[in-house]
Amino acid sequence: MPNGPDLVIIGGGPAGLTAGIYACRARLQTVLLEKTSPGGQVLVTDYVENYPGFPDKVSGYALIDQMVAQAKRFGLSIENGEVASVAPRQDKGVIELGLAGGKTLSPRSVIVATGASPNQLGVPGEKELTGKGVSYCAVCDGPFFRDQEVAVVGGGDSAVQEALFLTKIVKKVYLIHRRDELRAIKLLQERALSEPKIQPVWNSVVEKINGSDQVESLSLLNRETGEHSSLSVQGVFIFVGIQPNTSFLKNLLKTDERGFIITDEWMRTSVQGIFAAGDCRAKPLRQISTAVGDGACAAFAVEHMLNGY
Ligand code: NAP
Repeated sequence: MPNGPDLVIIGGGPAGLTAGIYACRARLQTVLLEKTSPGGQVLVTDYVENYPGFPDKVSGYALIDQMVAQAKRFGLSIENGEVASVAPRQDKGVIELGLAGGKTLSPRSVIVATGASPNQLGVPGEKELTGKGVSYCAVCDGPFFRDQEVAVVGGGDSAVQEALFLTKIVKKVYLIHRRDELRAIKLLQERALSEPKIQPVWNSVVEKINGSDQVESLSLLNRETGEHSSLSVQGVFIFVGIQPNTSFLKNLLKTDERGFIITDEWMRTSVQGIFAAGDCRAKPLRQISTAVGDGACAAFAVEHMLNGY
């Protein structure tokens, strides 16, 4: 018999915490490993208004706080730890997890719930000026730009929601999008396009972020007209999609072409005993509500596997 826990959940966002609640209620000995503090991307979300049960919206922080309290109430052990390697050892029925720092864990099952991180634009100046006006988190860095002019790059839910958040702080937000129609859901589009502080910059891409010690301007290209221009801003917030936090898996699991883990409807991956849940999984809709559903389902599937149902 392996001496590790029944289940290790990697990642403490909504998917991981929900899996923890369900696993503990199924009396599985469960450890949740989290690199920093539980919460994932929700923690840096100003407010959430599409998660059922909160008609007056809820702050990302408060929602996670409640999820953590609920998971702890059922006995979930939440530990700090970063998984550096994963090896299946099907002969002994355990999975070998190598943690940064040298420790190993040998659980009977694993749920990967490591979420996703923002993409970079990959333009000159971006790396050099990150933390000096280039940001990937409006809630974290927005307050540094009080009454200043900033740009948001992207046209999805993240870009539009964060642009709306920034209007509470800054003087003006240029919303730079590479097409002439936003990708974000219609309700967010309506709010952004009727917000006087948001000025859309359509059909445009950022070619370069300029500044010596701090962002001073953006070099833009209008893709329709081919025109180059300069936009003076003190900050630029980049929301051009996400990538899965799965590099530690080193191609162990089958993924789609963007690296998101492929599962079946039981959240089973291509390797026996390893499940995936939440934003790191290949799926059509990434929301807190779908992450929570994935987490519940993954824990249920683990219970079935371990109990031989
Ligand atoms: P996303 O939906 O993939 O949108 C990315 C945006 O960035 C798109 O508008 C895309 O343009 C643009 N883009 C991509 N690469 C670019 C590049 N190199 N240069 C310029 N623009 C580029 O990503 P997201 O907004 O981060 O959202 C990720 C997931 O989280 C989505 O499933 C989203 O629904 C979800 N989410 C939900 C909420 C909410 O429910 N309130 C909030 C935040 C995020 P194109 O449109 O031309 O492709």
